[in-house]
Amino acid sequence: MPKESRFLTRTTADGRTLRIPVGTIIGNNAGKQVTIYGGQHGTEYAGIEAAQRLYRETDAADVSGTIVIALATNEESLLNWTQFAPTEPEVKDMMLELADGSSFIINCHGGEFTELMHPYVISRLIGDDEQDAIAMRMARQFGTGIVSISKYRGEPKLEPGAPRPAWWLWPKKSLGDEKQIPEITPEIGEVGSRDDTMMYFGIQNVLRDLGILAGDVVDQPEQRVIDDRFWLTADQQGIFFPVVDIAEEVQAGQQVGIVRDYFGNTLQIVKAPADSTVMNMNVGMPVKEGGFLLWLGTF
Ligand SMILES: [Zn+2]
Repeated sequence: MPKESRFLTRTTADGRTLRIPVGTIIGNNAGKQVTIYGGQHGTEYAGIEAAQRLYRETDAADVSGTIVIALATNEESLLNWTQFAPTEPEVKDMMLELADGSSFIINCHGGEFTELMHPYVISRLIGDDEQDAIAMRMARQFGTGIVSISKYRGEPKLEPGAPRPAWWLWPKKSLGDEKQIPEITPEIGEVGSRDDTMMYFGIQNVLRDLGILAGDVVDQPEQRVIDDRFWLTADQQGIFFPVVDIAEEVQAGQQVGIVRDYFGNTLQIVKAPADSTVMNMNVGMPVKEGGFLLWLGTF
């Protein structure tokens, strides 16, 4: 049986059943196993499209090894159109189970309904030179040209009630950390777009490079590494009017947006703190005090 479809399920303490639809492609030839997740965030459609297309269209005759695909990892957030949904412990547990026996992880993310996103790939390093080199190569062969390096350093020591540092300053433990295998997280797609062209190319190219999928690898040029990030937030509640586009290069001091009240009074002029590129931007009009506006990256 070259393809298997099933639901993996867990019951929560309060009696709800959570499930992940899983497609497994068992290759005609022997080889390693990879686990691919689409939809850990349920409105990041490019990854869900690509994951489901991969299962639907891949011929087991072209596979050496096994491809395990979570076709809608956080089903609740998919069904309810919930943005930025937390991963419930039962879902995390199922995600870990799906990585059992795998040598690689690709966890597809992107922009949610209200998020514009410049495509890039997060490479999750685990401190093992050989594995980390594989993660960096997977990130490069994905083809976005930009990589963000993430490395777990234990849990932060915080005063009670203090907020956790920003995710890029203090990453949480990843699936790759848990399993001690290379993991990449492509961040591709935005604002409900179902265009999976770049995501699907990336998945296939990486699988070919790993020897799991037949076909020619398209070698990708050396990637640029995101150096500094600037996370800009609202000083107070208001309506956000961006004046730049995603991927736009901005100069230090350049205005990137305005926060106004309903009547047009300016509450905040938002400026770029450095020469940088607009990587991610909120297109939802309302912002809360301390709420996210956009982040800028330097390479
Ligand atoms: Zn996401």
